[in-house]
Amino acid sequence: MSGLYLHIPFCKQACHYCNFHFSTSLQYKGEMVAAIIKEIALQKKYLPSPKLDSVYFGGGTPSLLNEEDLDLIFTAIHQQYELAADAEITLEANPDDLNPVKLKALANSPINRLSIGIQSFSEADLKFMNRAHNAQEAKQCIDLARDAGFEQLTVDLIYGSPTTSDAQWAENLETVFAYKVQHLSCYCLTVEPGTALGHFVEKGKAPPVDEGKAARQLDHLIRASSAAGFIHYEISNFAQEGHFAKHNSAYWKGRPYLGVGPSAHSFNGQSRQWNIANNAKYLKAIAKDQLPFEIEELTADQRYNEYVMTGLRTIWGVTLEELEKIDPSFVDHFVSGAALFLEKEQMEKEGSVYRLTTAGKFIADHIAMELFLVKE
Ligand code: SF4
Repeated sequence: MSGLYLHIPFCKQACHYCNFHFSTSLQYKGEMVAAIIKEIALQKKYLPSPKLDSVYFGGGTPSLLNEEDLDLIFTAIHQQYELAADAEITLEANPDDLNPVKLKALANSPINRLSIGIQSFSEADLKFMNRAHNAQEAKQCIDLARDAGFEQLTVDLIYGSPTTSDAQWAENLETVFAYKVQHLSCYCLTVEPGTALGHFVEKGKAPPVDEGKAARQLDHLIRASSAAGFIHYEISNFAQEGHFAKHNSAYWKGRPYLGVGPSAHSFNGQSRQWNIANNAKYLKAIAKDQLPFEIEELTADQRYNEYVMTGLRTIWGVTLEELEKIDPSFVDHFVSGAALFLEKEQMEKEGSVYRLTTAGKFIADHIAMELFLVKE
């Protein structure tokens, strides 16, 4: 199983919390599409097989691509790869882009799944985050996407914002459940250095994230989504049976993927590489047929740490067999470290599979770090 990720590094405006790579100047969008197409050809040998099980347009804001851009990109993909008959082809979209004309263009392309960045149905939240859409667009876009023929929909929501009361968070969840989407990704608002929000918090113009409130809202999310029939299959992801995201699940299971576009990451099982996060430098390098990436060969310790970190976040957990494949000597380290968390009922064990319990999910990063291999 292999996946292709395409990073579309443009946004209409900067959300205050965002630290992804994007530019708000769309001046070079045409050149960028041409460069991404060229990189698809330059990187054709990266994946172990030309068969793709998933394609993911992320960003940035891929819903800024027009029909012609998508045609050109899919032509390039078809020239280098064979798409599996049941390939999952996702495009991240913002509600303000999802009008009937745009949706028709998207529906006429091979895209069969939309990931809609709604974040909240509350006007106060959307203003605080500086989102480009309003609450009405947030609500309308799901029906519009369905009318255009999209059956596979996933929605992103953010909890823990200073403007999101517990009541508002409960209402956001009720609203999204009523739309009967099959998949939900919910993230706690994080204050990243270098973002507008980071600056506001530093200057005292916005309060820091209230950890207690964030934990309460996560607790409500876990209970309410389970009552609505969702399976909590990754720490931030919830899906109805049969609707786990193929592309992201492949990341979490350590499958190979190629990332194309500025800042995109790739993984082949042994090394990680990441393209330069600068649009002008990316365009310049690709124009000279150069791939502007840095690469890191992963040591066995790093592969163990990555597997523990991602495995514990998922329903598939960490298995002793997988640890043994990385290095048999790591099994004892994991088993002895996990004993304390099993005793505290923050982890559970089923045969050779170790998973987090609901209590453990609240301190997932802490547990993973305690189990890491750290060289003195
Ligand atoms: S639209 Fe997405 S990528 Fe763009 S600034 Fe907002 S959160 Fe970041």
